[in-house]
Amino acid sequence: MSFMGNRPMRRNYGKMRSAVATVARERIEILLRQAEEVFPQDVELSKRYAGLAKKISKRTKVRIPQEKKHYLCKNCGQPLVPGKNARIRLRPVNSRIIISCLGCGAIRRYPYRKLGDGLIFR
Ligand SMILES: [Zn+2]
Repeated sequence: MSFMGNRPMRRNYGKMRSAVATVARERIEILLRQAEEVFPQDVELSKRYAGLAKKISKRTKVRIPQEKKHYLCKNCGQPLVPGKNARIRLRPVNSRIIISCLGCGAIRRYPYRKLGDGLIFR
């Protein structure tokens, strides 16, 4: 009798976890969007939004989508906006995309593959 009483609790816990993940995913998305939006006016605020998104991701174990993660500087935490504070170069020879942060000079390389006219990260 007593061990049966535990089962609904466990189920609820599972539900709660996924609810947390859904809220976290939404908040991360909003924060990253805001980080991009405020970037031209306020770099520091933009960094803070991006930092919060990272914090939520870490705490809730909800991943930041890969392509968005690549456009956050791992060194200084700025959202990387191509043409503003980021330089994007492609190396088709070895299928690498090189993203340089012009804020702090950090350089990241990722493999990519072509998909139609666009690129996707691998
Ligand atoms: Zn940087």
